[in-house]
Amino acid sequence: MSQLLEVKDLVTSFRTAGEKLSAVRGVSFSVSQGETLCIVGESGCGKSITTLSVMGLLPKNGEITNGSILFNGDDLTDKKEEEMRKIRGNDISMIFQEPMTALNPVFTVGYQLMEPLKLHTSLSKVEVKRKAIDLLNQVGIPDPEKCLKKYPHELSGGMRQRVMIAMSLACNPSLLIADEPTTALDVTIQAQILELIDELKHELGMGVVMVTHDMGVVAEVADRVMVMYAGKVVETGTVEEIFKAPKHPYTRGLLASVPNVDDAEHTLEAIPGSLPNLNEKISGCRFHPRCPHAMDQCLEKDPPNFKLSKSHNSKCWLHEDEEVSVNGDRATAT
Ligand code: SF4
Ligand code: MG
Repeated sequence: MSQLLEVKDLVTSFRTAGEKLSAVRGVSFSVSQGETLCIVGESGCGKSITTLSVMGLLPKNGEITNGSILFNGDDLTDKKEEEMRKIRGNDISMIFQEPMTALNPVFTVGYQLMEPLKLHTSLSKVEVKRKAIDLLNQVGIPDPEKCLKKYPHELSGGMRQRVMIAMSLACNPSLLIADEPTTALDVTIQAQILELIDELKHELGMGVVMVTHDMGVVAEVADRVMVMYAGKVVETGTVEEIFKAPKHPYTRGLLASVPNVDDAEHTLEAIPGSLPNLNEKISGCRFHPRCPHAMDQCLEKDPPNFKLSKSHNSKCWLHEDEEVSVNGDRATAT
């Protein structure tokens, strides 16, 4: 698998009333072709801002103040808006939670799907229509011809989400970024959409970055998982590592708050407290006010990233003295 996206030490800040606040504080991760990385955490932890930074779609008062975003080896933080627009139209696509934000209510599905194809490809009128029908077929729309003539409001939420995915695939992107793509849908439709994204990933060999606060979704689609808390990455690992052997107290808290259908005895434990505000100054580990294991040193020093296996990292002082075997080695801090 070759590396598609490599984000290093990303810091994204916002200017507000005379203050500069960081929503993303030194985030690093990578995504390969044919791989799904899920970014998880409570809402407000910086996961959406991370992906908007990658897309070059930050709100006006937001800016990347440090780090690099390599896409196929090319640093996106150096690109002008016009170049970014081209990359968004051709190589990286994004789907959002609410398709109505991406679909224009006054144009038919056909117009919205075919217009970009006319502009960005050399296909003839007939070929454009055929391609639009193919795309709608690919995302499981039952009667594509009929769907082309419809307006977004005439479709169900699930169908609108399928149309948006079809639009995002029109340019054959190599990277698909999906921000809570199924949150607004009911459970059955949610499962279908997740399955669709997974199938398309395999068929087209795309890399997928999926942002979600739902550990059920993560279990369903992730190859690797990155857990964020208050603007930082606190744990990364394969989906097996995160679900079978979660290490960071925050990840454990997230998993404990998922209902377990196989275990009636399992009680739902929500993580006490809430995410700090962006302007809140917190010494040491940013999770310490909510952590059941907080020790003296947690209040003073920010923990480093401890490498627990080739693919598993956790940013917590608990691992300092832990005997974790990585090819016979102890955990190492980076
Ligand atoms: Fe909890 Fe300390 Fe680990 Fe932070 S470093 S998660 S406060 S034990
Ligand atoms: Mg969000």
